Order: sequence, then C-alpha cells, then structure tokens
Amino acid sequence: MRHICGRGYSSLARLGCFSNSRNTCSSNSVVLALLVHPVSCIPLTNDPVSLKRRCNRSTVFRFVNLKCAKDSRNMKIFLFFPFLPLIISGQFSFTRKHKERYCAREDQRSWSYHGYTNGPTNWPRLFPTCAGNKQSPVDIRTQKVKVDAELSDLRFEGYDTPVTNALVTNNGETIRITFEDQVRRFISIDNKEYVLQQFHFHWGTAKHPGAEHTINGFRPTLEIHFVHSNGNSTAVVGTLYEVNSKNNPAFWPIVKVLPEVKYKDLSARINTPFTLSSLLPKNRNFYRYMGSLTTPNCQENVIWSVMQDIQNIGDQQLQYFLKLYSVEERYKSRECHITGNYRPLQRLNGRIIYGSTHM
Ligand SMILES: [Zn+2]
Repeated sequence: MRHICGRGYSSLARLGCFSNSRNTCSSNSVVLALLVHPVSCIPLTNDPVSLKRRCNRSTVFRFVNLKCAKDSRNMKIFLFFPFLPLIISGQFSFTRKHKERYCAREDQRSWSYHGYTNGPTNWPRLFPTCAGNKQSPVDIRTQKVKVDAELSDLRFEGYDTPVTNALVTNNGETIRITFEDQVRRFISIDNKEYVLQQFHFHWGTAKHPGAEHTINGFRPTLEIHFVHSNGNSTAVVGTLYEVNSKNNPAFWPIVKVLPEVKYKDLSARINTPFTLSSLLPKNRNFYRYMGSLTTPNCQENVIWSVMQDIQNIGDQQLQYFLKLYSVEERYKSRECHITGNYRPLQRLNGRIIYGSTHM
C-alpha cells in the first residue's frame, strides 16, 4: 500500500518518506505523520494517475499537511502502535522538494526518470545492483582528488576520423548515437583497448541543469557519455557542457537531426560528417574513478574518466534537446519531455577519485 504526501507536508512527516522523487511515500511516512497527528489516514490506490489526482484535491491532515484521498470507500483507520516496528526498522531518509513533473506513460516501463513508481529513488529496490556501494554519478571534490602520476594519458583512437554514417535514436530516456561506418574508435587504458559502442546525452535547462557528474557541487547543463567496452568491462568517458549564448559548432551536425527524432523510438541519420574529437575538450586532463552505469541495472566496475574542462553548448542548440519527448507522439504532453534525464548523485563510500594532473 502506498500513500502520497502533498507539497506542504511537515518536515517530520517528510522524514518518514522514502527519498522518492515523486513524493510517494511508504506506510512509514504515514505512521510518522500519525506521531504528530494520530487520527487516521486513508490508503490510496496503487494507480499513480488516480493517486495524484486525488491527492491534489484534498487535504486531510490539517496539522501535518499530509495529503491523502478523501475516499470514504477506501477509508481505514490506521493505528499508530502496530506500525511502531516499521518506524524502527524502516529506512528513513529525507526527500528533496521536487518540482512536480509526472509523466504517467513513464510509469509503464521497467525504469524511468520521471515516473512515480520507477524513478531513480526506486531503482535500488527494483534493481539490486543499483544499491551497490560503487555507484555513479558522483560529486567530484577537486580538493580531495588524488593526483596520480601513474595515471597514463587517455588515448583516443579514431576520434579524429569523421563520422560519416551514424544513427541517432530517441529511446525515450536519452538520445543515443551509434556508428555504422566500420571505423574502429577506441580508448586505451593500461594497454587495454576499449572500443566505442555509442554515445548519449544527459541534459537539463539553464535553470535546472542536467549533467550527471558535478564538480564541487556545480552541475553543468549537459553531459555526454562515450561508452566503450572491451568485452568484459566498460569504460565511459564523460564530457561536461555549460550553456551560454555562444553556439558550439561541434553540436550542429547532431542538433540539426533532433527534430526528426522528437518522439520515442524514432531514428534518423546524421547527414553532416563530424569528428568525435570536436566534442572533446582540447585539454585532455581527466578525473578517474571506479563506478557504475548510471542507468539500471547500474552494473559496477565501470572505469570512469570525466574530462576536467567544461565546454559550452549554445542556448539555441540546447533548445533542440529541450523539445524532445520521452514518449511516442500520441502520448505527448508537457510533462513528458526527456529533459532532466540524470541520476541523482551517489555516495563515494570511500572511493578515491584520481586526477591526471595537478588541479
Ligand atoms: Zn549516460
């Protein structure tokens, strides 16, 4: 049984909510609310659509502002004491106040960024690997970065060869670019070659940026992930971009085809040749740490290299990304844009982030 907390619920009630980006709460939150105002609470249906509709309509708890449905058919009295063990054993965490953005269609997938039941805070429950202790993304505290002289240069091979045949796909979670030009593009780490499989984007708006990695708490607007594999393990290179008024020529070949992949499951070809090196910063210094994929199943032992220099993307170019939908055309709505497709920061849990040079 799930319940929902309204925007104004008290900090104590909020304490009981699992950190769930969509404001849904477990029974724990309700029980904790009853500590403050031990009267009653109404269990809600599991259907997220009716759940949201009802909760926006009625406020039952005046004192704690916990909003529940006013549905007498479903009304039950919850007693405080039978739930005491839940409070003691429950995993309490603070929820962040989120701008409400709910895309009902996204709840029908195994995972999503904007669904109620399968958003990032639900991933550890739905995909046990996502609860691991070497997860990504992370905040990179430059003061704590350990400079490692042994960290060999990150060599990019084939990144200067123009991409002449590439496919852009909107998969509902990101824009993914795959190659069909038979050019071998790879990076070398410790004399092992990791071949480029695809690259994709995480983004937000100028006001609510959407890069996954943050530097000293600063979140850039957009991040590209170049995903490489050597068969057994994965190596991802992350590049960061901050929006400003100046367009970045490297983005044009890509953004020009985005109107053709506005909706989920659409694909288009890139017509203008471009090089991947044009998307990399000139300064090839990077941060290195061991982490995970940032989407389910959050597989660990991913070698992360996050480029240190933050590049720019033009505001005009970013607008192309902001128009993309996470759903098929027939389901399009204001709530169902891909924008904001980033996973919240994960704990380092003692991991060390290395730097290729002095910062
Ligand atoms: Zn990614």
